[in-house]
Amino acid sequence: MEAHKDMRQTSTRLITDKIYKDFFDGQESEYWDVLKMSDPDIQLNIEILDFIDSQSYGVAYEYASEFLDQVDWYEIVQNIQDHYFDSHCGNCGNELYDLTSSDYCSNKCEEDDLILMTRSRV
Ligand SMILES: [Zn+2]
Repeated sequence: MEAHKDMRQTSTRLITDKIYKDFFDGQESEYWDVLKMSDPDIQLNIEILDFIDSQSYGVAYEYASEFLDQVDWYEIVQNIQDHYFDSHCGNCGNELYDLTSSDYCSNKCEEDDLILMTRSRV
């Protein structure tokens, strides 16, 4: 749990640094008015979101892409793969329409696969 929290803090720091560098660095004076508002942090968040929303596809794409880079895509591949194997015959690969009865599309496929498994064990 602690390690996870540390990771999250690291990630927040990195993203915060990037946002500062991309939007505020060298332009601080443009945001001086925000300092006089009651919730300057919320105000800055809203301004940057509005900016990203109003900007070209490129900026939004870049930010979305950075978030998606943190996704464990391998886990998603595995989930899709599990789903595939659950719904296809263990021998011939035909799609199964009745998922409750068997991992094979026919008795013959089940027998063939068992024979193969028995052979490969020898
Ligand atoms: Zn089959």
